[in-house]
Amino acid sequence: MDIDKFREETLKRLGLGEVNSGIYDGKWAPVEGRETVTSYSPIDGKPIAKVTLARKDDYDETVKKSKSVFEEFRLIPAPKRGQIIAEIGRALREHKEDLGRMVTLEVGKTKSEGEGEIQEMIDIADFAVGLSRQLYGLTIASERPYHRLYEQWIPLGPVAVISAFNFPSAVWSWNAFIAGAAGDTVVWKPSTKAPLTAVAVMKVISGVFEKHGFPPVYSLIVSKGSEGGNWITDDPELRLVSFTGSTRVGKRISEQVSRRLGRSILELGGNNAAIVTAKSDENIALKGVVFGALATAGQRCTSTRRAIVESSIYDNFLGKLKNAYSKIKVGNPSEKGTLVGPLIDAEAIEDFKNTVETAKRQGGKVIYGGKVVENPTVPGGFYVEPTLIEAHSGMDIVKEETFAPILYVLKYTGIEEALRLHNSVPQGLSSALFTNDMREEEAFLSAYGSDCGIANVNTSTAGAEIGGAFGGEKETGGGRESGSDAWKGYMRRQTVTKNWGDDIPLAQDVVFDF
Ligand code: NAD
Repeated sequence: MDIDKFREETLKRLGLGEVNSGIYDGKWAPVEGRETVTSYSPIDGKPIAKVTLARKDDYDETVKKSKSVFEEFRLIPAPKRGQIIAEIGRALREHKEDLGRMVTLEVGKTKSEGEGEIQEMIDIADFAVGLSRQLYGLTIASERPYHRLYEQWIPLGPVAVISAFNFPSAVWSWNAFIAGAAGDTVVWKPSTKAPLTAVAVMKVISGVFEKHGFPPVYSLIVSKGSEGGNWITDDPELRLVSFTGSTRVGKRISEQVSRRLGRSILELGGNNAAIVTAKSDENIALKGVVFGALATAGQRCTSTRRAIVESSIYDNFLGKLKNAYSKIKVGNPSEKGTLVGPLIDAEAIEDFKNTVETAKRQGGKVIYGGKVVENPTVPGGFYVEPTLIEAHSGMDIVKEETFAPILYVLKYTGIEEALRLHNSVPQGLSSALFTNDMREEEAFLSAYGSDCGIANVNTSTAGAEIGGAFGGEKETGGGRESGSDAWKGYMRRQTVTKNWGDDIPLAQDVVFDF
């Protein structure tokens, strides 16, 4: 498809112009008098449109309104809040294709992945609706007569979400819809590499809260990371900062928020491995590894970056991998059949080139790809070849996350060595084991097994469902978002003790008579 036409039509469908307001606090701030950031499409490197950047006074006003709406919103019964989120889910369903196109245009995901991102928002909206009737607390047996002891969960306050470019809308919704069901208001600072998707999402959903008289439960402030990020991290009004992004920036966020004793949820970099054993189903392992390594051009936090393959099947599996890679279509992600789109920008291309060179210097052998695509189907875009590098455990570069379709292949003998290699990196997000052997599977899931937040058997490291808690250990930051009981991160727990007797017995039989 012609990219200019695709761009024009996508903007039109979503009601976006050449310059768009990036500040929504119940109404859109005027574009006049504000600096802008240009959003470029990685498909052809051309500008898509501009978005205004928030000034400090915009930020202050947004947080003030968010706080004042919180004071009312927290009193709405949770199931009623859930009903509002149900309407948001419906609005997203209506605009799934349009928003999916915007994700494709702005971050270069294939059409299927772009729409998948919006489906993920719809799924978490559905989850939040059910959750709004299930914010359960525990009842605890009291040691004192005529006493009742229980926990209740109370809305936390206005919270902030800082999101990464590679999931320009879904990550916000994992946070925002759960926080909304919990009774919080949410201030969103998206990545300046993908601000238009955020503006488009906000346009689609803002009417819902406006209709219910609660603007701005969700507000938006597009701003430079270093600037807007600091406003947020230093702001005691924002009780929680949920940050998704690189470990480098996440460490700073964590320090700054801790300094004011605020809470943070950190979803940082991954360096995910798939262990392929001789007992695996070769077809499943191959599909799982190739999808994990190449989906979103290797720009997922859960992308498979290391394949740890048992020595007895190593040569055969490597041959199969090379063959599969040779069939992958790289190019325009809006075109049918494309499986690998572009990297996000020129800087990402440099990172890719540097990593390949460093890997070679450290003893790695490029056995497939390794180069920037010279004559891409769309000129100006940021395309690289899906890359396979034979590596060994002594290579430092293997311990780093490079946001590109580079897969290191390592050899092992015995499941213990596989697990040792697997756990030998600083990150701990996602992991996969391909086997049909129950002992190997149990070892992988045991206390000496995978040290990651996500452990998959016979399926890829990438592509999590929203129902589980999502997040990772070690330098991935320890945060949990999305499903299961991750909602507890967005509420405060209160332990309640009620004495309904006619005396006041003390805990631990303490005597204090006077
Ligand atoms: P990034 O760290 O460059 O940016 C993330 C966000 O932080 C953006 O909104 C950016 O504007 C902001 N930011 C940048 N500098 C800042 C600063 N000094 N202070 C405050 N905020 C600042 O990350 P990215 O390139 O957008 O995304 C890729 C990274 O995100 C990868 O490392 C990837 O693994 C990680 N990621 C993790 C998860 C997860 O759930 N664990 C999900 C998606 C992406």
